[in-house]
Amino acid sequence: KEADISRLLRYAADRFSMFSEQQEVQLTVDVPNKLPPVYIDLDAINQVLDNLLSNAIKYTSQGGTVVLSAKENRSQKRVQISISDTGIGIPARDLKRIFERFYRVDKARSRGQGGTGLGLAIARELVQAHGADIEITSEWNVGTTVTFWVPFAQGGNAG
Ligand code: ATP
Ligand code: MG
Repeated sequence: KEADISRLLRYAADRFSMFSEQQEVQLTVDVPNKLPPVYIDLDAINQVLDNLLSNAIKYTSQGGTVVLSAKENRSQKRVQISISDTGIGIPARDLKRIFERFYRVDKARSRGQGGTGLGLAIARELVQAHGADIEITSEWNVGTTVTFWVPFAQGGNAG
């Protein structure tokens, strides 16, 4: 359960190199090589990363950019992870419901990309199962950033 989050994030980005190339979206990793060990369920956080990266790439048009970044917050004993895109964005009126199961913004706008509306709901459940937080900010036609936090291994959760 003690994990190297820096490595996990690089692997997650690697899983999406093919998809991002296909979509002509640049995927950038901005993660320090050394981050404190974190206390997480590996499968769960990999699933969270997959859901968030697939959204970021799927909802960004050709020529856009997705940045996966991380930084440590020593005072709060946690690592902050963000997935930021220059995509189509989410209208303000939809943002407060966007983590609900099956909630999707108007299907017609999403470049005909299929989906069930479960990715964000599952991501939030998995992050919250760690006692951690997840947030989304977005601006219509500008881009979206999803941020979540995972606890340091010595943050009080670990034995
Ligand atoms: P699924 O993930 O189940 O295949 P989905 O991508 O539609 O389907 P979610 O991942 O839960 O479902 O996302 C819900 C909705 O939020 C999406 O349909 C889309 O409208 C919007 N959305 C999510 N991420 C982004 C993003 N990065 N940029 C713009 N819109 C987004
Ligand atoms: Mg999705």
